Amino acid sequence: MGMQAALLHMVYPPQCVACDAMVSTDFGLCGACWRETPFVTGLVCDTCGVPLPGQDPGHPVHCDECLTIARPWSRGRAAMLYRDRARSMVLQLKHADRIDLARPAGGWLMRAAQPILQPDMLIAPVPLHWLRLLRRRYNQSALLSAQLARLSGLAHCPDLLQRQRNTQSQEGRTRDGRFANLAESIRVHPRRRGLVDGRHVLLVDDVMTSGATLAAAAEACLATGAADISVLVLCRVAKEG
Ligand SMILES: [Zn+2]
Ligand SMILES: [Zn+2]
Repeated sequence: MGMQAALLHMVYPPQCVACDAMVSTDFGLCGACWRETPFVTGLVCDTCGVPLPGQDPGHPVHCDECLTIARPWSRGRAAMLYRDRARSMVLQLKHADRIDLARPAGGWLMRAAQPILQPDMLIAPVPLHWLRLLRRRYNQSALLSAQLARLSGLAHCPDLLQRQRNTQSQEGRTRDGRFANLAESIRVHPRRRGLVDGRHVLLVDDVMTSGATLAAAAEACLATGAADISVLVLCRVAKEG
């Protein structure tokens, strides 16, 4: 620790990012919050990152959902499940100006992404519609993708993708309704088209529920000539049980 950091710690001792408990390192969770945060470990679906029962068979495995729905991307990972502390942290990142949470989240994303990272990847966040961007002032997914780019050293294009129109809320829709609502709602920024051609794009989002938003983003990249798509989310919504 440098002198400046040491002095800062005397004035502002590092706190748990989820509660006010003191912790020994910056940007971490205290023991209690760590235990309440459902980090994804063990065997996961190679396409969406949801945890699967059993031991690693030594080849990629897929969940029932990814076997049923044609995903337009190749591989995917998630850092946490969308419940308990993970859920409250994402909601704070999104709605409570807790942009400081992006920094620890970047480390968690980096760890989850290890098996799927490729040296030539281009990192891009799933975009917010500009109206929502105005209201919220920041795109939480772009905060996450920036942290991942910083840690991985991979190329990053925060405005690679754009929303075409203000899509209706996804809440209360059926799975088919969600996909229909979002089809062609995302496009590659006209001035960024050259970046996508022949590239492997890693799409970053805060939460994956049905995967409809990520699918729309992936389709847009593929339509613009991307060679391959992978996805990475902070939280995966998984069915209970
Ligand atoms: Zn805590
Ligand atoms: Zn899956």
